[in-house]
Amino acid sequence: MTTPFYGPDYSELQQFDPEIADVLVDELERIRGGLQLIASENMSSPSVITALGSTLTNKYAEGYPGRRYYGGCEVVDVAENLAIERCKALFDADHANVQPHSGASANQAVYGAFMKPGETLLAMALPMGGHLTHGTKVSFSGKWFDAVHYGVDKETENIDYDEVERLAKEHRPKVICAGGSAIPRLIDFEFFRNLADEVGAIFWVDAAHFIGLVAGKAIPSPVPYADVVTFTTHKVLRGPRSGALVCREEHAKALDKAVFPMMQGGPQMHTVAAKAVNFKECASPEYADYAKQVIANAQQLATSLGDKGIRPTTGGTDTHLSLHDLQGIGVTGAEAEERADAAGIVLNKNAIPFDPQKPNVASGIRVGAPCVTTQGMGTEEMKTIAELIHTAITEGDGTREHPAAVKVRGEVTDLVTRFPAYPHSAQV
Ligand SMILES: *Cc1c(COP(=O)(O)O)cnc(C)c1O
Repeated sequence: MTTPFYGPDYSELQQFDPEIADVLVDELERIRGGLQLIASENMSSPSVITALGSTLTNKYAEGYPGRRYYGGCEVVDVAENLAIERCKALFDADHANVQPHSGASANQAVYGAFMKPGETLLAMALPMGGHLTHGTKVSFSGKWFDAVHYGVDKETENIDYDEVERLAKEHRPKVICAGGSAIPRLIDFEFFRNLADEVGAIFWVDAAHFIGLVAGKAIPSPVPYADVVTFTTHKVLRGPRSGALVCREEHAKALDKAVFPMMQGGPQMHTVAAKAVNFKECASPEYADYAKQVIANAQQLATSLGDKGIRPTTGGTDTHLSLHDLQGIGVTGAEAEERADAAGIVLNKNAIPFDPQKPNVASGIRVGAPCVTTQGMGTEEMKTIAELIHTAITEGDGTREHPAAVKVRGEVTDLVTRFPAYPHSAQV
């Protein structure tokens, strides 16, 4: 006898908890109804979401496959072993840990494995494109560790490698980190590797944003260079909301111990299974095509926005995102975010390098192509989207009633009708 699958049952939820049932549908309608340009978001597949909505959520599995603190783990062990093997194969890595609950949790494991409180980290500054977990004062990483930050060059707006080298030699950090949340350009991993060797540091790449492009073989991989690479699985990669890390064999034990038991309790086995599904998806030729198209689309968006006077920092992008300076059109990041939102375009304000505005106002926006590319849009649609963004943020006033917002929303509706999100399933 085969066991019928106990899957997401919307009608039961609707009866029991109509308020939350409505939230699920409203959110699906929201993402279907607008253009999602937040560079850190994507639309995971129905297969990934099926694994997430499964009874694997119930299982306690502290420990690692074959070495658990609980009985009854023989089934979830299969999922974790598949996730580990697929992850190692995808990134050609010695070792993978698929248990981190998020990108931030994976990063915690790096600190746990390699640093003691008070020791020095060298990483990119948050306002220059880094991340909260790279030693900012509001994060555990800045409270417990001595963070030294590098930025970008004023002219090129790209990583200031001379500054990185100078700071590394001056401060002799325990760990050097490359990666961030608003870096449109490729990173010179070989430079960082050589520098880390010269000053005796661990080289950590936080690939949260761009790992999907690596998985799709669309940009060079940091794995051959870094001691450890941490990442999220829900950005370009298009898996469940979670994290993971890959590392050199020599660091496997220390990092596994740092994930569990140092930083986390039991892994979320439904998410681990969803990561396995995602890694399988990423190994397909379709995903490689997707990753290349994401870059082509991001480059077209950057160019077309630039043509309208919305200048891309660094002059463009090599990845899935671009960062735009709005000072030339006299609009702040906060205004642009609000006006775009009123017109059905979801993007975020973002500090640009050397931003004169406060972070909650900002002089820039960050736009990303992962979602619209998942929906099947190509470079022609990116030209249209750039026009729509320009109209919305230069003519709109932040209200939905403004004629510019109404007009752009109409064109957004045309686009998302031609390229729907989740076209094959009424409910996910
Ligand atoms: C998104 C991101 C993270 C954090 O990921 P969470 O899953 O939100 O914890 C860490 N580092 C970088 C560079 C990121 O962009």
